[in-house]
Amino acid sequence: MARLTLKNIYKRYEDGEKKLFGKRVENEFAVKDLSFSCTDNSFIGILGPSGCGKSTTLRMIAGLEKITDGQMFIDDVCINELLPKDRNIGLAFEDYALYPPLTVYDNLSFNLKAKGLPAPQIKEAIDRVAPLLKVDELLRMKPSALSGGQKQRVNIARAIVRQPGLLLLDEPLSHLDGKMRQTLRQEIKRMHREIQCTTIIVTHDQIEAMSMADTIIIMKDGRLQQMGTPLEVYDNPANEFVAGFIGEPPMNLLHSTIAKTQEGFFFTFAASDLRVQVPERYNRVVTDGMNLTLGVRPVDVLITEKHSSTPAPVSIYENFGDERRVSVRVGENHLNLTTTSEVFYKHGDIIHLEFNSDKTHLFSAETGVSIK
Ligand code: ADP
Repeated sequence: MARLTLKNIYKRYEDGEKKLFGKRVENEFAVKDLSFSCTDNSFIGILGPSGCGKSTTLRMIAGLEKITDGQMFIDDVCINELLPKDRNIGLAFEDYALYPPLTVYDNLSFNLKAKGLPAPQIKEAIDRVAPLLKVDELLRMKPSALSGGQKQRVNIARAIVRQPGLLLLDEPLSHLDGKMRQTLRQEIKRMHREIQCTTIIVTHDQIEAMSMADTIIIMKDGRLQQMGTPLEVYDNPANEFVAGFIGEPPMNLLHSTIAKTQEGFFFTFAASDLRVQVPERYNRVVTDGMNLTLGVRPVDVLITEKHSSTPAPVSIYENFGDERRVSVRVGENHLNLTTTSEVFYKHGDIIHLEFNSDKTHLFSAETGVSIK
């Protein structure tokens, strides 16, 4: 187990300047002012779209990439200048990189042998780890005889057999099919409980991060957007980006203008008759004519029989068996809702909507930051 702390980390790749339309431009920072710490035995998920700096961050933690600025600590030791082999880190990347001529047993024992561990101790370590990842039946096989899921299990087993303080997983499930991903997700979580090792997984898949990690770090354009438990980032997104990134289907984000009437404040939407009462808790932050973004998750848009609410025409209806997804037009935008009720609609049907007022979110139209 280890504690990891990043303090104001920056990374700019040093492979020169790029040329854009004939002009020289400096390379952008791939990671900007990144600070966070994770406690002993935590399971951290670094989540964000492709190119946001997740792998760069992981590679800096592993010591495979130099830090441009800032400091990194494992426990209380600054590791900026420490070689990868001296960081007590286990790594499992997206491509399995197993040695093809060696059996699974020899792949697992390779690094332990290199460290000079005696054969009985190596066997003990492998016997301990192999059942955790269900590779005990595969020990005599060569990598070419393994499925993708089996290769990834061996890859992770190899990373933990050395009992690292910190386990780093970079998109470990991205090559696997849906069913195998789900199985391995649960197994990695179980393994983490058993081995008590601080673990960081990098993924672009929110389901992976939400289901495995106890803390999620969401990044965009090299910057940390929010760090919190899965529930915190889902229930209280810090900004519009996080709100739209977490949750499937994503949160509805509608540009709205506040209108003050005798009955109170209302959200209004360009080119639409839809008017939604502003929940009372926002009365002190909204003003007449204010532009903002209203966020509401599809599950919090409710179909009502109350005809006092504004009617909306159905544009798309999808039946997924366990839930139905309905899309209605709101001016230029679509508003999506999900329901488990057994409803059926055709294009153009008129439905009446209400928003779960406890679950609406406001974001600044200028900065995208959450307004409380
Ligand atoms: P992610 O893992 O989130 O997809 P990366 O950390 O791989 O993102 O990349 C972050 C940014 O750094 C991207 O703009 C990418 O093009 C750039 N980058 C990554 N590796 C290199 C490299 N070796 N040289 C130059 N730029 C790189």
